[in-house]
Amino acid sequence: MNAFELYNPTKLVFGAGKVKQLGELVKPYGKRVLLVYGGGSIKRSGLYDDVMFQLSEIGATVHELSGIEPNPRLTTVNKGIEICRKEKIEFVLAVGGGSVLDAAKAVAAGALYDGDVWDFTIRRATIQAALPIGTVLTLAATGSEMNGNAVISNWEAKEKRAIGSKLVYPKFSILDPKLTYTVPRDQTVNGIVDIMSHVFEQYFTLTTDIPLQERFAESILLTVIENGEKALEDGTDFDARANLLLAGTYALNGTLPNGVSTDWATHGIEHEVSAIYDIPHGAGLAILFPNWMKYVYKERVGKFAQFAVRVWGIDPSGKSEDELALAGIVATRAYFTRIGAPATLGELGINDDQIDRMAEEATRFGPIGSFKHLDIEDVKTILRNSL
Ligand code: NAP
Ligand code: FE
Repeated sequence: MNAFELYNPTKLVFGAGKVKQLGELVKPYGKRVLLVYGGGSIKRSGLYDDVMFQLSEIGATVHELSGIEPNPRLTTVNKGIEICRKEKIEFVLAVGGGSVLDAAKAVAAGALYDGDVWDFTIRRATIQAALPIGTVLTLAATGSEMNGNAVISNWEAKEKRAIGSKLVYPKFSILDPKLTYTVPRDQTVNGIVDIMSHVFEQYFTLTTDIPLQERFAESILLTVIENGEKALEDGTDFDARANLLLAGTYALNGTLPNGVSTDWATHGIEHEVSAIYDIPHGAGLAILFPNWMKYVYKERVGKFAQFAVRVWGIDPSGKSEDELALAGIVATRAYFTRIGAPATLGELGINDDQIDRMAEEATRFGPIGSFKHLDIEDVKTILRNSL
């Protein structure tokens, strides 16, 4: 096991009706609040009214940054930064999915930085301070509710980049499974794939003798596989939505990488695809992950065989490790297809035009991934195999 530090300061407030605690949770941070939300789902569901009521109860002055795009854009983040400066905002409240949460984190960090917030994504500067943020999550997917990451797109430059800092962990996140009842089928699918992909990035590792981390990862995968299908059958199945929501948080809140070399190559490649084509993150991952698996599994066949047996319940008798590993990859692809996720870039209208550019960008700092180091040619092959 590798050496590690575990840090997670986010207070998780989980359960039906927990939005009622919002006012009390915001209160210690000040009364000048920037409310960040997306394209209107929170207005349609009535959540916006509940949030405004809570904020009015503590006498907050609320300014709004609405219209956060899925794959949130730098231009929108900059609007939020301007509001923070002009209105002397003390607290940033994100209400929505991962895109809204990520945009709020970038706004919170950018508001206290003299330069361009994009500097944080290109490693020109590191975050030294950020406004405090809190979240009300409405979609099980990214884990952004309990981590210090944010992914922002510079649409004009066709770049999608991540920032990360201990300073942008939410102070609190409210997770009410009922708030996810209205998530449409396709977004539920994207969320399931994203959660599973976060686990894959940390499960497929060359680090050995980590039984606890492996079983954590496998239990999250099993929970998502079972409850994902239940939530798709009945979007108002409370337990299915609750289990999916909690699995999403645990998949990326710092539990899984402890002592483990993590990979993240597939996320890196996906970000380049959605930077150019603006496709949903989960859809890109559903296409790329099985192709990444096929390309790299020989690096450690045994781990993939274990995955097949423990996660997909494949009977090992009479099968070689190689056969088991491949059966696990086939089962992964079949599950994604069964729930309605895309299998090829072609299905999303993407051809080979930009493969060179995407591969160049994905490897701009050198080879990516730790399970297998992928250079530019490897990335091109995975993208071609995904067409
Ligand atoms: P999202 O982009 O936040 O939301 C997708 C869509 O779902 C939006 O149209 C949104 O509508 C809608 N929606 C959200 N909640 C809803 C609800 N309860 N009912 C009905 N519709 C709802 O999706 P996401 O998958 O959570 O976030 C994706 C982004 O996060 C990508 O940019 C991805 O790269 C990034 N990401 C971040 C991390 C991280 O650690 N920070 C990890 C992985 C991925 P409205 O706009 O109308 O609300
Ligand atoms: Fe992700």
